[in-house]
Amino acid sequence: MARHTGSVCRLCRREGVKLFLKGTRCHTDKCAITRREYAPGLHGKVRKKRSDYGTQLREKQKVKRIYGLLETQFRNIFRSAARTKGVTGELLLSALERRLDNCVYRLNLAASRAQARQMVRHGFVHVNGRAVSIPSYLVSQKDRIEIKAKEQFLKAVKERLESWKDRPTPAWLKLDPAALTGEVLARPTRADVGGEIQEQLIVELYSK
Ligand code: SF4
Repeated sequence: MARHTGSVCRLCRREGVKLFLKGTRCHTDKCAITRREYAPGLHGKVRKKRSDYGTQLREKQKVKRIYGLLETQFRNIFRSAARTKGVTGELLLSALERRLDNCVYRLNLAASRAQARQMVRHGFVHVNGRAVSIPSYLVSQKDRIEIKAKEQFLKAVKERLESWKDRPTPAWLKLDPAALTGEVLARPTRADVGGEIQEQLIVELYSK
């Protein structure tokens, strides 16, 4: 599958916000956006006035990059949300949150979504007792997510969880740090996703 292979910090700097794509480094002073708070490239420091279309496009790109998706994948999720009865923007965010790679990341079992995706692809993630190697797998209520890997890997995950004790998991997921398992308590709602995303702009962009 095609994937972004360039510098991920450039993506944060392009969007002008921290997208937390690099795991632990994102929470340190080494974060590129705190050191160079302007867009990458020759004209990165030039401030331009953004059109409505530009604002909508940037919001879509931002969300797409947060979840590590390519355009076609993202558009397909949007289409599916648009076909479902309800508020399209909220359904879009709910579907993005319910991806298995995102759940592993939200449970703090992986340092970043990219690492979570790799863990899923390598078969380290089991859902309801069965290995699931598809990062886009959508979890459902009462699903049980479990990490199964070599002892050394599990030890590293436990150590990271120990150092991240103060990082909360979302209300719709429940983590058992000793067993390295998570349970899906409910479907994620808009409130669970956080306020920094303006999903209405994405709906407007794709509705043109
Ligand atoms: Fe973004 Fe993390 Fe790089 Fe900072 S360190 S610019 S948050 S990917």
